Amino acid sequence: MAFRNFKMVGFVIYGRGSFNQLDEILAPQRKEGKPMIFLVDHFFEGKPLVNRIPLRGNDKVIFADVTHEPKTTYVDKLANSLKEEFGTVSGIIGIGGGSTMDLAKAVSLMMNNPGSSADYQGWDLVKYPGVYKAGIPTLSGTGAEVSRTTVLTGPTRKLGMNSDFTPFDQIVLDPELIKDAPVNQRFYTGMDCYIHCIESLEGTYLNEFSKSYGEKALQLCREVFVNKDNWDEECDDKLMMASYAGGMSIAYSQVGVAHAVSYGLSYLLGTKHGIGNCIVMNHLEEYYPAGVKEFKYMVEKNKIEIPTGICKGLSDEDFDKMINVSLGMKPLWENALGKDWEKVMTREKLRGLFEKL
Ligand code: NAD
Ligand code: ZN
Repeated sequence: MAFRNFKMVGFVIYGRGSFNQLDEILAPQRKEGKPMIFLVDHFFEGKPLVNRIPLRGNDKVIFADVTHEPKTTYVDKLANSLKEEFGTVSGIIGIGGGSTMDLAKAVSLMMNNPGSSADYQGWDLVKYPGVYKAGIPTLSGTGAEVSRTTVLTGPTRKLGMNSDFTPFDQIVLDPELIKDAPVNQRFYTGMDCYIHCIESLEGTYLNEFSKSYGEKALQLCREVFVNKDNWDEECDDKLMMASYAGGMSIAYSQVGVAHAVSYGLSYLLGTKHGIGNCIVMNHLEEYYPAGVKEFKYMVEKNKIEIPTGICKGLSDEDFDKMINVSLGMKPLWENALGKDWEKVMTREKLRGLFEKL
């Protein structure tokens, strides 16, 4: 058996107001005449946070359009225009939710790798390290701040650029930055973390490493979504650490049924990751009975609407597409259901599940 030897994030700073140290953090990374590029979630356009970005010299702020989850075409466009304008850059700083952080990772890699980002969707295909990259989350839950992947929708598939070059060199975890997240979005992205924990802790790949982080992340999710009646600063602090720990948990295990099915929805219908996971989790009693029960309690307690009936009226061909994408996520199914998963999760059974969503 070969154990995974995984690359982690280089530097981590945590705390309220830690964003104010960004200028000094970036100073040693600056290269003469080469700008820092701040890729900022378009939500922050015209907001006070933009004025706090430590711009120097020919630094540039680019607002990332995250209306849709990141596509390889968008990554290529951003990287190519930066290459044209500057040759190379000192670094790419992603400020935003999982989508913006993934874009920043991918653009950093594409500054130094030839071709299209679609060529590198898969495992360990990236050839050269990217330029310096930092991630600054403004939503908590995806774990994109710690992961070795960047999830991209390409011409033929939705798959990450998984590699040892993918993790950030630096992350800035400042819970003040998530305080304005809308209640629904905060819940959907927060549930991504909760679901990571359930899938990791209930999976066959579980080990003490993943368990240590997964249990802590789960506890923090419960403290904010189950035990708290009113959201406060402490909740933002906790959820940010839950996301980090949840990400660390799956780094050494794997996600499971909710993610495998949600990827199918996202590929065909463009359903976003957080809400897609929630739509699926709502129907997974058979696989995660205790987790789903608690999930439903949290939905109710936090007064969140989970869409239903999203697969109504789809054609056989549509269902086939979703089933193909979903069953393609082999490690997820193996983690969830064991080595003989193909006998358990047949196409018919999966179709039945999609029909319920
Ligand atoms: P997101 O980044 O897609 O953002 C969702 C919405 O929230 C956007 O409209 C955005 O503008 C807005 N937003 C962001 N921060 C805000 C704030 N502070 N206040 C108000 N609005 C804000 O959402 P997400 O759930 O964080 O990320 C989902 C993405 O992350 C997907 O693309 C998914 O594929 C990816 N993902 C990556 C990994 C990984 O390991 N790389 C893991 C899980 C998910
Ligand atoms: Zn996820």
